[in-house]
Amino acid sequence: MTIVIAGGGLSALRSAEDLRRRGYADRIVVIGAEQEPPYNRPPLSKELLWGGATAADLAFGVSEGSDDIEWLLGRSVAAADLTARNVVLDDGEMIGFDGLVAATGVTSRRLDIPGPTRGRIGLRTLAEAESVRAALVPGARIVCLGAGFIGCEVARTARALGCEVDVVALDPVPLAIPLGPVAGAELRRRHEAAGIRFHLGRTVAETVGDECIEGVVLSDGTRLPADLLLETVGSVPNTSWLHGNGADLQNGVLTDEWLRVDGRPGIVAVGDVARFANPLFDAPALRIEHWQTAIDTAAFATATLMHDLGLSTDAPAPVSIMPWFWSDQGDLRLTSYGMLGLADETEIVEGELDGECAIAYRRDGEVVGYLLIGMKQKGARYKRQLGKERAALRAAAV
Ligand SMILES: Cc1cc2nc3c(=O)[nH]c(=O)nc-3n(C[C@H](O)[C@H](O)[C@H](O)COP(=O)(O)OP(=O)(O)OC[C@H]3O[C@@H](n4cnc5c(N)ncnc54)[C@H](O)[C@@H]3O)c2cc1C
Repeated sequence: MTIVIAGGGLSALRSAEDLRRRGYADRIVVIGAEQEPPYNRPPLSKELLWGGATAADLAFGVSEGSDDIEWLLGRSVAAADLTARNVVLDDGEMIGFDGLVAATGVTSRRLDIPGPTRGRIGLRTLAEAESVRAALVPGARIVCLGAGFIGCEVARTARALGCEVDVVALDPVPLAIPLGPVAGAELRRRHEAAGIRFHLGRTVAETVGDECIEGVVLSDGTRLPADLLLETVGSVPNTSWLHGNGADLQNGVLTDEWLRVDGRPGIVAVGDVARFANPLFDAPALRIEHWQTAIDTAAFATATLMHDLGLSTDAPAPVSIMPWFWSDQGDLRLTSYGMLGLADETEIVEGELDGECAIAYRRDGEVVGYLLIGMKQKGARYKRQLGKERAALRAAAV
């Protein structure tokens, strides 16, 4: 029997390890487009940039019992036939499978901006992070396009390393989409106090320079000098290899409640690429680009695979997870629990907004998440509390 895992990141690694842990002893082939064995991405916008970690520190070890997994690295899955049950690699090799895990993650979204491209970069891979790190020298002029988590993390690190930093974004405040207007405005205040300049409600219309970028022109005509244009404007799920199978690939791979793709037994999706409904939050099908979700979805999906392949008589549990996320922005630790993006109102429930605080996120009066600004030691308590609140709401709804 063969299980193919498409993708060579965290969710691929955890899927392979979980299969072994569940007693699957046959062939596992992992096909990963990057040359490197799976590595940890969060430090790419944090420790790796400020010198708290090296590339070697980022490698995940493979757990005991998983050393017989076949790794085909530096090779991509170009196509899959979910009915005939095979994948075709970029060099034409075909591999048949009994089970398939779609774990291909996302790629940085890039905008079509006229002008020179040398000096424009996204931040998703180790190679990109090393290029960004090399550019963060005192006095360098860094323009971050996009004011999401990665953009704000790099902006603060670049500032701490002595760079001049401008952040350009269409949003009204940084982190507007994931955290909303209240937390976003407070983060803007703190980042500005650290010397970061925001240009909100605008985008980069053009880059200028000879061969390399020397500056950017914003949509309102403002000109900013720039040695590096970091583009962190969201992501695009890697699903092209699944085209032609009838699966719903709009914004990721839609799964059913057991993470099956298109309801097909033995074919599952995990990690950033998977779009699934989360009943714990009564949430519609969404992708959740969190480190922990890559691990949690692998656990659910491998139980589904074991059942579908006739290797376990246990009925797999429908996916239901407590998303959580952290972000380090300068000396500031943000932690979120739940699905804040579902909320329509927020309330500070502990502490002060301009100090350390906990903010409750509610939808129709029901808590859907907490954001902690600082308060590192209280994370476990809020996570537990949210779990209890959501479980009680679900029980009441049944
Ligand atoms: C800079 C950065 C900072 C982050 N910081 C945080 C954080 O602070 N907290 C947090 O919770 N999360 C953070 N994340 C998100 C977290 O890293 C991801 O949620 C996690 O890596 C998802 O794992 P994955 O395996 O689904 O996808 P990925 O890690 O993206 O792995 C997918 C792999 O599949 C490969 N692939 C793509 N297409 C193909 C194909 N056709 N064939 C073969 N292989 C293919 C890709 O090259 C890649 O190696 C961060 C991400 C980035 C990029």
